[in-house]
Amino acid sequence: MRLHRSPLLPARHGFSTRLGGVSTGRYATLNVGGKWGDDPANVDENRRLLAEEGGFDPARLATVHQVHGAACLNADGRGAADLARCDADALLASEPGRAIGVYTADCVPILLGDGEGRVAAAHAGWRGTIAGVASAAVEALVAVGARRERIRAALGPSIGVCCFEVGDEVAAQFARFPGAVMREGDGKAHVDLWRANRAILVAAGLAASAIDAHPPCTMCDPERFFSFRRDGAGIGQMLSFVIAG
Ligand SMILES: [Zn+2]
Repeated sequence: MRLHRSPLLPARHGFSTRLGGVSTGRYATLNVGGKWGDDPANVDENRRLLAEEGGFDPARLATVHQVHGAACLNADGRGAADLARCDADALLASEPGRAIGVYTADCVPILLGDGEGRVAAAHAGWRGTIAGVASAAVEALVAVGARRERIRAALGPSIGVCCFEVGDEVAAQFARFPGAVMREGDGKAHVDLWRANRAILVAAGLAASAIDAHPPCTMCDPERFFSFRRDGAGIGQMLSFVIAG
């Protein structure tokens, strides 16, 4: 199994790819998402394989019901089943060994850590980016004692400006982020979610050098990544995880 990792993040973490699992067809091979019709036994096995590689207990992995918003929940002291029912798009944890994660297949996964055991994970598609889920995760970490200047963030594999063509109504919402909207020769707008999220994290108090905002593009690389924009629904999902402590 090959996980994508950022050398910048001061916490055990990984961004899964589609490599190294047991699913077949459109879910091939490491689909860890349960919402798009893959055989649940294969999803369970893929999660087990990922947890083994990542060094966490799959039964204690905390995820949430992602809704493209900006709510950040504290996973400490809460069970995985309880959290999975909650609508939110970010999680934090500080209990040693607790893993938290977000599912994506083009949206931007953002993992954060303060180097003192506190970690967070956020799911930022274009709606979540505009809603400010990245800054919500930073503020939630600060609220539980993280020092803002110690927090580092890594953006994971997600759709790049190369591929993220949007309508003018979406592009207009990104006009406040300098350089986040590009126009192709044909006049079509492309949005740079990485640049927008980096700007949001800088506005939240992180140094530019504390942010890894150059992940691979999911849509450009069908060998390694699932991509909703490229392949539509009924595909696999990837998990980005980070471990507290
Ligand atoms: Zn691309």
